Amino acid sequence: MIKLSPRFLLAMISIFGVSLSTNAQDTDKRLYEIIDDISADSIEYDIRKLAGFGTRNTFSDTVSDTRGIGAARRWIKSEFENISSKCDDCLEVFYQKDYVTPEDGDRIPKEAWVVNVVAIQKGAKYPNRYVIMSGDIDSRASNTMDFTTDAPGANDNASGMAGTMEAARVLSQYEFDSSIIYVGLSGEEQGLFGGKGLAEFAKKNNWDVIGILNNDMIGNIEGVDGVIDNRSFRIFSEPVPPNETERERRMRRFYGGEVDGISRQLARYIHNNVKTHMPEMNPMMIYRLDRFGRGGHHRPFNDLGFAGVRIMEAHENYNRQHQDIRTENGINYGDVVEGVNFEYAKKLTAVNAINLASLAWAPPAPSKVEIGGIVEPSTKLRWEPVKGDIAGYKIYWRDTTAPQWQHSRFVGNVTEFTLEGIVIDNFLFGVAAVGKNGHESLVVFPNGTF
Ligand SMILES: [Zn+2]
Repeated sequence: MIKLSPRFLLAMISIFGVSLSTNAQDTDKRLYEIIDDISADSIEYDIRKLAGFGTRNTFSDTVSDTRGIGAARRWIKSEFENISSKCDDCLEVFYQKDYVTPEDGDRIPKEAWVVNVVAIQKGAKYPNRYVIMSGDIDSRASNTMDFTTDAPGANDNASGMAGTMEAARVLSQYEFDSSIIYVGLSGEEQGLFGGKGLAEFAKKNNWDVIGILNNDMIGNIEGVDGVIDNRSFRIFSEPVPPNETERERRMRRFYGGEVDGISRQLARYIHNNVKTHMPEMNPMMIYRLDRFGRGGHHRPFNDLGFAGVRIMEAHENYNRQHQDIRTENGINYGDVVEGVNFEYAKKLTAVNAINLASLAWAPPAPSKVEIGGIVEPSTKLRWEPVKGDIAGYKIYWRDTTAPQWQHSRFVGNVTEFTLEGIVIDNFLFGVAAVGKNGHESLVVFPNGTF
C-alpha cells in the first residue's frame, strides 16, 4: 500500500489549483436543506400540467381554461398565489406585459400581449436588490408562426418554468436579505420579447439587479448523439457587457478583464457554489453568451447591462426541440413529457435555489474597486465600503489563464489591503463582500486604478 504524506497531498492540491482555505459559505447547512427540499415529483406534476395545455405559443388561445397560453399563465399565477398563501403572503404576484405587433419582428403572426408572470419575495435588508430566476411559459411547434398545432414544450421550456415554481415553493420558507424574483417569461420563441419587457421594467423601476439565472431546457439527459449524462450542465455567460463604454473597452487593453465581465463573475459564483455544495455535479462554464448563433432570455438583461447567465442541460436532443409531434423514418419527434428526466430537472433546480439563496443572504458587492501596484513587488486593492453590518471583504486572485478564482484571502472589515509579494502583472484580482452569516457577494473585478 502506498502511503501519501500530508506534505505530498498539499503539494498535489496546490498543483491542481484547489484552495485549501475553507469556504465560509459551506458552513450554512440551510443550503443542504434547500437541496433536499426540491422535489422531483412536484416538478413532474408541473411539467405534465404545462404540457397539458396543448400549446403555449405566445399567440395561442387566451380565453380557454384548458388550452393555450392564457390558461397556462393563469395557472402559473394561481400556483404562485398558492405558494404565497403558505408563507404569510410572502410573494407579490403580478402580470407584467407588453403589446407586440407584426412590425416588432418577423416571427410575430398577429398583435398580442406578451405576458410575464412575476412573483417577488421581498428581502428584509435590501428590498430593492433583486436576484432573478426565470423559465419560459411559451412553447412552439415546428413552425413558430403556427399557434394552433400541439406544442407541449415539455423540456423547452416547461422544465425551466417548473423549476422556477419549485424554487419558489422551497425558498419561500426562508427569509432573505435581498429580494428574489421567480418569473415565467413569454414570447421567447418569437424574439425574446418577455425578457426584454421585464428587463426594461427593471430599468424603469430602478431595480438593483444582482443577476438573472435564466433556465431554458433543464430536463433532457439524452443527447441527440446518444450520450446520456445526468450530472453535467452548462452555464453560459458572455465575456463583457455589450453596452460598455469606449473608455472601458480601451482600459481593458491595458488592465485586462476580457474574461471578467459581470455575467462571467456570476457564472463563476454559481460554478463554485455548486462544486462546494453539490460535488456530484459537473458544471461546465461556457465562455459565450449562448449556444452558437442561438438565443435565450438572459440576453435582453445583458443588453441593458445586467449580469445574467443561461443554465441548461449539457446534451441537447434536437429531435425533441421545436418539432411537431410525429414519427418519421422510425424517429420520434416532439418535445413530449417522456423526454424529460425529472430527477435531473430537480438537480438543476437545486443549482438555482442554492445560488439564489446565497446571493440573497449575501451583502451587496463593493461598487467601486481600484487596483494598484505597477512596478512594485506587491498588489494593492481598495474599495468603497458596503452599507450595512458586514463581516468584511475577501480578495480573490488567479493565474491569468485560469478559468476559476484559485486563491482567496479574507482581509477583515477594511477598505484597502496590500497583498505582499504578489506581483500585479502575473494574476487577475477581484474583491467580494462577506456577510456575518458567511455568505459572499459576487466578485467585483477592479474598475479603476491608483
Ligand atoms: Zn425553444
